[in-house]
Amino acid sequence: MKATDRDAKNVPLPSPDQRQKRRRLVAQLHDVRDAAGALPDAVVLLDARGNVRWFNAAATRLLGLRERHPEGSLTRRLAGSELGTWLQTDMAESATDMPAPADPSLRLSVTLMPFGAHLRLLLARDISTLSRLEQVRRDFVANVSHELRTPLTVIHGYLELLDPTDVPELAPVLGEMRMQSQRMRQIVEDLLTLSRLETREALPDEEVAMVPLLETLRREAEALSRGRHGITVEASSRARLRGSIHHLHSAFSNLVSNAVRYTPSGGEIVIGWRQTADGEAVFSVRDSGLGISAEHLVRLTERFYRVSSSRSRESGGTGLGLSIVKHVLNLHQSRLVIESEPGRGSTFSCVMEASRVLPPENDGSSRAEASPD
Ligand code: ADP
Repeated sequence: MKATDRDAKNVPLPSPDQRQKRRRLVAQLHDVRDAAGALPDAVVLLDARGNVRWFNAAATRLLGLRERHPEGSLTRRLAGSELGTWLQTDMAESATDMPAPADPSLRLSVTLMPFGAHLRLLLARDISTLSRLEQVRRDFVANVSHELRTPLTVIHGYLELLDPTDVPELAPVLGEMRMQSQRMRQIVEDLLTLSRLETREALPDEEVAMVPLLETLRREAEALSRGRHGITVEASSRARLRGSIHHLHSAFSNLVSNAVRYTPSGGEIVIGWRQTADGEAVFSVRDSGLGISAEHLVRLTERFYRVSSSRSRESGGTGLGLSIVKHVLNLHQSRLVIESEPGRGSTFSCVMEASRVLPPENDGSSRAEASPD
């Protein structure tokens, strides 16, 4: 602004003190911008319409944004990449592990968060090293489990051939060896199941008839309990599910078997199936057993996490069951909810996502083909 303009508008000249303050402010602004620019994570500032307002150097390296095209919608500029599709369809808060648009050999973790009045901030972190380590861990577990499978089967086979009545003095040892080799086989099988689930992006979409499945689960529970528990089915819905029959059966069966194993004789077990007002459906297993205290609840689905290792081992557990349940539910976009009180029992609920819930088969709106159970 020229001095004459300033005079005309009667704007007083800034005092030396004000000028110094302004210089300091500008310097601070530059510092903040330089710091954001130098961050190793990609930072993109988006306006209300999704247009790019600013981005840092890492956004060029990871997302391929260039200074030459500062304007334009980010979705359009990333069209064709997985991140572009995610921005277009999901717009969820965060996504982990997707290829970097500028270099598909790099993996990104992306977060989109509201910023200021109507702005949004896209943050993308390079997690390639982490992702590689995770892959190494997955491969290692899968390979070790696979390699252990054959020798364990051979040992187990020979142990089965030995007749304890031939060597009565070794009968207890033989019994223990058989039990432990069976346990090892079960651990290996569960680890392999988990490895397979981890590498799958989706499971088969089949129509799962829940009414017969609930009856099968009740029969399985009766067989495991051998009359020690009261077992009932409470089904207020006849809805079916869209998902993998094999995996859903195995997940539900895991919860039922836990209820039997962690409920002392004389306890009650209720297998439930109901629909909620917002279209979800809930498969639940309620028991009057040992219960679990709050500090354990959040960690229960971690591999090998047990509230009591000795009780889990005694009851033939591998510590992998709930991990498998969680993975199966994730692959059905559904979730596991655990409510429990020590000494009073637990309820494990599989909350099945609304789009997975199908009407009963004889309902006018249902599809024609029968679903196997
Ligand atoms: P495990 O093979 O040891 O049963 P899971 O992954 O199925 O492994 O369960 C993890 C742990 O959660 C168990 O060791 C047990 O301590 C606890 N748990 C699972 N279900 C129940 C239940 N119904 N009641 C009490 N504790 C349970």
